[in-house]
Amino acid sequence: MPELLTPTADQQLAFLRQLQLIFDEGEFSSTYKYALLLALGELAVEMGDDTGSSLQIPIERIAEKFIEFYWPQSVPYVDIDLGESVVLFQNLGQQQASVITSLQRLRSQGITTLTQARESSHWSETVRSISATVKEMPIRYLQNVAGTTISFLYALPVIGNVVELLPGVSYNLRQFQGFLQQLARTGWTAHVSANRRNTRLIGRSARLERFLFGTSRADLSDVALILRPLQEDRCFFCQGRLYDQAVVDHFIPWSRYPRDTALNFVVAHATCNADKRELLAGQPHLDRWLERNYQRHEDIGSAIAELGFVSNLTVTNTIAKWAYRQAFEAKGHFWLRHKQTEPATAEILVAFA
Ligand SMILES: [Zn+2]
Repeated sequence: MPELLTPTADQQLAFLRQLQLIFDEGEFSSTYKYALLLALGELAVEMGDDTGSSLQIPIERIAEKFIEFYWPQSVPYVDIDLGESVVLFQNLGQQQASVITSLQRLRSQGITTLTQARESSHWSETVRSISATVKEMPIRYLQNVAGTTISFLYALPVIGNVVELLPGVSYNLRQFQGFLQQLARTGWTAHVSANRRNTRLIGRSARLERFLFGTSRADLSDVALILRPLQEDRCFFCQGRLYDQAVVDHFIPWSRYPRDTALNFVVAHATCNADKRELLAGQPHLDRWLERNYQRHEDIGSAIAELGFVSNLTVTNTIAKWAYRQAFEAKGHFWLRHKQTEPATAEILVAFA
């Protein structure tokens, strides 16, 4: 009976306390620990389930997440007012963090997008070298608090190339994903802006978090150009003509899962997009979206991958299923159309069967 493994409310609370202790009292000499927490959270969503069982995660998968997170941060941050630009420092030491220098090496080969990076002959050696860094540094030190190690996520030392999340951990990470994302992104942003070598440049800029974790509008306007003809220039949600009103919508809202993946994009009216806000779309929309991705994932994926976005049908569906289940368990609401929502029910999960 897998239900027996599911953490109790008390155990979930204890987990959150320990997580908070890491953020409050852990030592962050670089941004790696934030990246590791984000990676473990996302991989629990993508690879785990809700039984409460332990989860084995290859360190290479974590390294690939690091590459995704740091890729946009390995280009110079530009201050328009100062007219200066520099690649932001991700650690407090004398040297730039090695993950950033690995990615700069890739970029120096003329590689500009993640898709090109994955296809390049340097990819596997980059993953290998970042895996070694991840294992040596954040995996080893993440759970250190005030001189002691609280092994509440995984047991140490990690032998071989796999991290095993302890029973209940994957469940909790999936359950508290939004919370973890917020804490880690806020901590990461604060770390970068508190670094004295970065302060002069970003001292008065509010754009930092967007630079670190956001997506530029320019990128998404290219996505719209690809999707509009595929949607026959109609809004994905209400089917009305788009005219000059088109915006790119994250079908699974950015706030719930802040990663850009090719198959998560749809084009919609700005008004429909604004009304949907951070809600998940209801049954008819979900059916249409799953059907579109099932039928067209190859052409949509390859066209948008050219812009550098990752495309993977299985991962996209896994994330969506998780998000809908979360909404149902949290007694949330689904968006149907302008000013109309409905309570989240479990029936919608059948769409993923
Ligand atoms: Zn519309």
